[in-house]
Amino acid sequence: DTPILSVQNIKKYFPIKGGVLKRTVGHIKAVDDISLSIKKGETLGIVGESGSGKSTLGRVILKLLQATEGDIHYNGTNITTMKRNHFRPYRRNMQMVFQDPFGSLNSKMSVAELVEEPLLVQTTLSKKERQVKAVEFIEKVGLRAEDRLKYPHEFSGGQRQRISIARALITNPEFVVCDEPVSALDISIQAQVLNLMKDLQEELGLTYLFISHDLSVVKHISDRIAVMYLGKIVEVAPTTKLFQEPVHPYTQALLSSIPTINKEKTDNPAVKLTGDIPSPANPPSGCAFRTRCPFAHDRCEKETPQLAEVGADHEVSCHLHH
Ligand code: SF4
Ligand code: MG
Repeated sequence: DTPILSVQNIKKYFPIKGGVLKRTVGHIKAVDDISLSIKKGETLGIVGESGSGKSTLGRVILKLLQATEGDIHYNGTNITTMKRNHFRPYRRNMQMVFQDPFGSLNSKMSVAELVEEPLLVQTTLSKKERQVKAVEFIEKVGLRAEDRLKYPHEFSGGQRQRISIARALITNPEFVVCDEPVSALDISIQAQVLNLMKDLQEELGLTYLFISHDLSVVKHISDRIAVMYLGKIVEVAPTTKLFQEPVHPYTQALLSSIPTINKEKTDNPAVKLTGDIPSPANPPSGCAFRTRCPFAHDRCEKETPQLAEVGADHEVSCHLHH
């Protein structure tokens, strides 16, 4: 089975300019050698602290940012260096739901205009066809047809996120990157929007890459979860396995920090995270997690651990396990 999406050794480095001549004096290694693949219909969750590079990874995969190195395949086709007009039919199929329902919607456009806009830009449908489809998707995300004449400020955060979802889905994409789609919402609203996204996934046959800093949110929606730290994936496993048998010390620490999750049966040892995440401009040598890892030893400073299998469908990068 060809995965719907796969990336091989993807890197995204941002140059740091310094001095009067604005020379490149270093690089922020936002995404640093990541390989992964996503099966059609599945949800792969990406979890990590802010600054771990997850949003950059999502943008690179959608070609909203050009990768520094590595390859991106969509349904087996290498799209990494595809030019804009050649890429256009892929863009329709690869959409993004953004983090901020307040900032990402143009306040001067009505709901109907907002939801219709991607069709105007990315398809050749007539005005009438676009309007019919817009109403269909406004209702699909749980708003009322009459709401189409209103403006974003007349809605709550959860309703605005529904408008963003309608915009992302109206071109009938196959693959959607969801970047913290519920992080700006009240806890009570989060589950409603997540459940809507799950229902739409089933109805429309969507594949999700779901990015969040919140493990309990990612758990709710993902089939598999990849844990990111300083631009790298440190562990990837099916959701149940990751929660019951976390192997990487960083995953163990993340899980220990969510008390409610540990109510379920797990062998998860209590690992406490100390200190802040180091700057991606100057990551520690060897294992980037070693400055916060209670199990760090000599080898961790000298040698960068590689992601390798520890069980079926379960990969970890840590010297303790290889
Ligand atoms: Fe900790 Fe070393 Fe494993 Fe990194 S490689 S997570 S520092 S034990
Ligand atoms: Mg982000």
